Amino acid sequence: MDAPIPFLDLQPAYRSAQKDIDAALQRVAASGWFLLGKELEAFEQAWAHHCGSLHCAGLANGLDALHLGLRALGVQEGDEVIVPSNTYIATWLAVSQCGARPVPVEPDPRSFNLDPARIEAAITPRTRVILPVHLYGQPADMDVINAIASRHGLKVLDDCAQAHAARYKVRPVGGLADISAWSFYPGKNLGAFGDGGGITTRDEGLVKQVKVLRNYGSERKYHNEVKGINSRLDEIQAAVLAAKLPLLEAATNERRAIAARLLQGLAGCDLQLPFVPHWAEPAWHLFVVRHADRDGLQQRLAGEGIGTLIHYPVPPHRQPAYAELGHADGDFPIAEAMHREVLSLPLWPGMSEPQIERLIKAVRASV
Ligand SMILES: *Cc1c(COP(=O)(O)O)cnc(C)c1O
Repeated sequence: MDAPIPFLDLQPAYRSAQKDIDAALQRVAASGWFLLGKELEAFEQAWAHHCGSLHCAGLANGLDALHLGLRALGVQEGDEVIVPSNTYIATWLAVSQCGARPVPVEPDPRSFNLDPARIEAAITPRTRVILPVHLYGQPADMDVINAIASRHGLKVLDDCAQAHAARYKVRPVGGLADISAWSFYPGKNLGAFGDGGGITTRDEGLVKQVKVLRNYGSERKYHNEVKGINSRLDEIQAAVLAAKLPLLEAATNERRAIAARLLQGLAGCDLQLPFVPHWAEPAWHLFVVRHADRDGLQQRLAGEGIGTLIHYPVPPHRQPAYAELGHADGDFPIAEAMHREVLSLPLWPGMSEPQIERLIKAVRASV
């Protein structure tokens, strides 16, 4: 059998920036300063700029970015936040952490993203925020979502955890909502050497609030205005991210080229392939196909040494953690069908041409 194709290999990304990353690690070690320092400030500036936004606050992880972003927008106990019915559970957990209720809205079955046509029916007097997710790195239809929000006096916070360097109508994702929340988890398209996250915003007041919330609710040491948490992007992670950032556009273009090869090579076989609206330039965090016999397909590919994953096997409303909301099987049929049928194929910068060809051949032979 040919060499296995892992679902994800992060080593090529390290090798391509190794000199700068190693220098960054040594610089921080030698500085003796590990939190809330120059490295963080430099990365925050660079990331806000990259996103076409004005401000960034580095945080400890993506879940905190969603949570503190919602808190800065004023979400509290008793409020409702509109979330996609198909997303990673972190999107919902952030709402719960504010004491608010996640109100699921079904996705568009072609794009897998929040279906704007279904949002208004879910708005109530308690709704404060619409929280779209750019799932798999495919931008959500932000102009339509922002227009609905402004008609109803709501705020928009977008979950950008899978969408680094994605573009919507030429504009970068991360500068399109009131607040954008990021994860820099190692496997994300811009990944740290551990956990990391952050928010971007054009609003100086909002970034200030998040910076207070991330540091125990304190602007001045030992003076606490609000009950904050401890959620800081440390200097090592900030330095690693800043060292990797200059390669992000090239890495994203490589993902786009691999995705184009897969779309072309898999055309015409018995699979639902990712749909890309004409206004979208996806980040291709994941290349997700849909197949009626998903588990069989996954097993056959595993037999060929090809790693795949399922994003995600159980929708949030069917998780025991959300039993309290009282949703039953069948309440969100579009999301439930997706969770039964989706499969993520390997796609990462550094994948070789023979690996891409073998992947295409193996999938064609397995459907
Ligand atoms: C990864 C991810 C998160 C959470 O990020 P962490 O850094 O792991 O906390 C949130 N939402 C989505 C869509 C994600 O993919």
